[in-house]
Amino acid sequence: MEMDNKEVLSIKVIIDCPVCSTQNRFLLEDNHDRFACEDCGFCFLDESKNNADIVKDRCLFCGSKTFYYEAPFSLSILGYDSVCYVCGARYKDIKINEPDRRYSEQTYQDMCKTKISLQWQERIKEAQ
Ligand SMILES: [Zn+2]
Ligand SMILES: [Zn+2]
Repeated sequence: MEMDNKEVLSIKVIIDCPVCSTQNRFLLEDNHDRFACEDCGFCFLDESKNNADIVKDRCLFCGSKTFYYEAPFSLSILGYDSVCYVCGARYKDIKINEPDRRYSEQTYQDMCKTKISLQWQERIKEAQ
């Protein structure tokens, strides 16, 4: 099932800043430009992109397509969030790209060796 752009834009995403650890919350329909950390100003986006097109199958921030499901407080009645293995972005109440049913340490280790992960690490290093 395809999400339309309007659905995508109403998604909430929560991400801990990899530089200063501040938790940031964004609504994709807001015009955040590059989604800067409210504390240290780290830009979660490499460059301005079309939010709706990207989130349909990959993480807006790091570009990874690998996610796992997590229910807040482990209560599935609250719905499932798709969490990005690479940057930890949590997309509230949506399914992106068939996420793993739960966090897998093996998948996490594999993801750490990918180009996407290395590029993300590089951006964090540059910002420090
Ligand atoms: Zn920060
Ligand atoms: Zn990500």
